[in-house]
Amino acid sequence: MEIFHIGAECYPVAKVGGLADVVGALPKYQNNSEHIVRVVIPHYDTAFIKENKFDCVHSGFVKLGNFNFPFTVQKEKKDNLGFELYLVEIPDLFDRKDIYGYEDDIERFLSFQIATLDWISTRNEVPDIINCHDHHTGLIPFMMLYANKYEKLRKTPTVITIHNSIYQGQFGFNKLYYLPDFDLSKVNFLEWNDKINSLASAIKCASAVTTVSPNYLNEINNSAYGLESLFNLARHKSKGILNGIDLEVWNPKTDKMLSTNYSTRNFEKGKQVNKEKLCYQFDLDPTKPLFSFIGRLLEEKGADLLPHIAALALSENFKQINFLFLGSGNTEIENQLSHLLASFKGNYNFFIGYNEELAHQIYAASDFLLMPSRIEPCGLNQMYAMHYGTIPIVRRTGGLKDTVIDIGDNGNGICHDQASIVDVCFSIQRAVNLYKDKKSLNKIRRKGMNTDHSWESVSLEYIEIYNLTIIKNEI
Ligand code: ADP
Repeated sequence: MEIFHIGAECYPVAKVGGLADVVGALPKYQNNSEHIVRVVIPHYDTAFIKENKFDCVHSGFVKLGNFNFPFTVQKEKKDNLGFELYLVEIPDLFDRKDIYGYEDDIERFLSFQIATLDWISTRNEVPDIINCHDHHTGLIPFMMLYANKYEKLRKTPTVITIHNSIYQGQFGFNKLYYLPDFDLSKVNFLEWNDKINSLASAIKCASAVTTVSPNYLNEINNSAYGLESLFNLARHKSKGILNGIDLEVWNPKTDKMLSTNYSTRNFEKGKQVNKEKLCYQFDLDPTKPLFSFIGRLLEEKGADLLPHIAALALSENFKQINFLFLGSGNTEIENQLSHLLASFKGNYNFFIGYNEELAHQIYAASDFLLMPSRIEPCGLNQMYAMHYGTIPIVRRTGGLKDTVIDIGDNGNGICHDQASIVDVCFSIQRAVNLYKDKKSLNKIRRKGMNTDHSWESVSLEYIEIYNLTIIKNEI
């Protein structure tokens, strides 16, 4: 079958978080002799795009209300990523450094969706399935069903994959005229709480809804930033599918970003070499357990707790542990984490920003990875950590609950129930005790490294959903 994945991010082309990892990996594992997989994202000003060659396969004008933006569709020449990559270039809107965070994000992503459908609907072939990712592509199912100019795509089933339901792409009805002409009697398929809500519209219109873990699907039926009742209504066509990890990118045996590679056979030594290098770089003591955090510094991730956790744990433990944090986001959290540098020199360090290479090195060098998330639809960090022999310390929520079982229950990590300073510090104390018992520590590390989180079987679950939607559409 011919499958389109449409999203805002795709690793290694453009990445902010886990969405990119999924859109860069799932298609690769679906692309085989049976399926042709094409990925479409906007053309940003990123290093990958500058360094690779593209052919222009389509050009046109995207109409957004009274505006007309010229656009082209560029195909990456060599299919270097293991699937066909297409970039929609709309110079005024997307040739910018950052992926999100602009005042005109609604206009940007709506133009992207319209340009993508303009192009797809002018091709000779009609795709078998369109898999949209998150709210940035959430109006595609509606437009395919009801916009006059996409008549040709009416019968193509759509899947919306929800990576995070906090972000919904809402805007006022004063911008309704941005949409291409459509059957006005269907306007209710756009609406949620008196606004146009891209994610809600996708849930209403898509043939199937997937979330990135089974437990997250359960959670959003109770609490989903106002969309819970809609998720309940869509339950019959929804499925939670746990993300995989791309072992071509995340593999301690082959990872070129590490100081030394290692496997389950020599991980103790391999991790120590990586730890010594990183500790030297960040002025930490490699004989002490290293606790790390990697991620967006937001309340959603429990990142507001980190400064307090570090301060409390370092005084309680009389400096017997190290912390290394990597991330950026909320300025107040960034400032609080920076302020700790002076007080806990030698035991604490913090790198503000986004750094892919450093992230790989931290997964390899750390003993424990903190994830005190309030919300975690799937979470990839805990899976990367385990695969690199690092033990995750997680709050039982979303996909963390699906993937991490407490060592007290013969599991692979340390779990707590509350996103609170006390709960996390208690877990850190348990980790310090575990660290002293090398035999148990290594047993759990080995268990994590041996857990199968590969995309192979996961990608088949998506194909199964596609097949079901195609059959339903034919009936
Ligand atoms: P989310 O998508 O909610 O941010 P995930 O756990 O699904 O969280 O995925 C996070 C991805 O982003 C991982 O690949 C992680 O290593 C990466 N990441 C997050 N913050 C940073 C950072 N500051 N530098 C490098 N990589 C980061």
